[in-house]
Amino acid sequence: MANAETTQGRRALITGVTGQDGAYLSRLLLEKGYRVHGLVARRGSDALWRLRELGVAGEVKLLTGDVTDISSLLRALEQAQPAELYNFAAQSFVDKSWDLPAVTAQVTGMSVVNALEAIRCTDPKIRFYQASSSEIFGPARTPMQDETTAFHPRSPYGVAKAFGHLMTINYRESHGLHASSGILFNHESPLRGIEFVTRKITFGVARIKRGKQQKIQLGNLEAKRDWGFAGDYVEAIWRMLQQPKGDDYVIATGRSASVRDFCRIAFAHAGLDYERHVEVDQSLLRRADINALLGNAAHAKQALGWSPKTSLEELVAMMVDADLARIDKGAIA
Ligand code: NDP
Ligand code: GDP
Repeated sequence: MANAETTQGRRALITGVTGQDGAYLSRLLLEKGYRVHGLVARRGSDALWRLRELGVAGEVKLLTGDVTDISSLLRALEQAQPAELYNFAAQSFVDKSWDLPAVTAQVTGMSVVNALEAIRCTDPKIRFYQASSSEIFGPARTPMQDETTAFHPRSPYGVAKAFGHLMTINYRESHGLHASSGILFNHESPLRGIEFVTRKITFGVARIKRGKQQKIQLGNLEAKRDWGFAGDYVEAIWRMLQQPKGDDYVIATGRSASVRDFCRIAFAHAGLDYERHVEVDQSLLRRADINALLGNAAHAKQALGWSPKTSLEELVAMMVDADLARIDKGAIA
């Protein structure tokens, strides 16, 4: 495994650098002495808020580009000259993927080919990480899912991720690239997008606690997810690219909880009873939901020496406290 001495000055390129995982990985790599470049599509008005929250916005060299445009990626590789490329960019919200199936296929699926081709054509020694997802498994037909579990994606997002996953394996096998796919189960943090259920809940708890609203509306309360902390998961991602060869790894906690459980823990952390504040809105139910996901990360533990450090209770507390602090500072309404 590389150590801080061997990674000093190493160069990395991160697509999706302004997202949750992009921010945590940027911080981790900078701590290890990397020179971090990030591809930014520059659509939002305050794209850099996560990098700012982690105190690394000034240290990441930003390159403008879109992963659906292969010339952006070729230019970014030329500018960054990276030893490692982490491909996080995606239309990452499952629910939106039913409204935007073709966009999701392009951004979440086809862009993986763009990244792999860009590597193959410029410098095949660049190590590649693909942000794969437990969504490729679909409805649980085995109690736990691992690298051998069959795919049955339930959303256009899941289908696009399955394509990216298989393409990554294909470039490893056909072109000998050092390409790895991390099949990450849901991972959250105070930097999670507000549209995802965990952050919707913790933001709602904070607003209710501060008297700004009374209720939150949710969809399926019985869906179960294996929720981990994004800060733990980027360490696993980095370790994948330090191995002698590319491979696929499930990254998960091995504990699954329902949306209802998440509500119970989050409201209780703020001294509130979720049953008084959570309402089910039928319009938020999905066209096809995944009832339960639970990951077996034994391979990552054995090969990478990785295991999660943060419990669900610690994660929820961190998220609720961060949203309370943001409201108290006036950083969000
Ligand atoms: P986010 O949604 O927080 O970040 C996605 C990033 O991709 C954003 O920076 C976004 O920029 C960028 N992006 C979107 N479209 C493009 C584009 N066309 N060109 C360039 N950049 C683009 O996701 P996370 O950080 O949570 O997740 C990282 C990756 O891991 C994603 O691929 C996600 O699908 C995957 N994943 C995440 C899981 C999770 O639980 N978090 C679980 C499994 C997989 P902008 O904000 O400007 O749109
Ligand atoms: P996903 O696992 O990547 O789809 O992450 P989400 O956080 O978007 O959804 C996790 C689970 O929470 C899914 O089973 C959703 O159906 C369920 N859920 C229940 N209510 C909501 C809600 O209001 N918003 C979202 N995003 N998900 C919800």
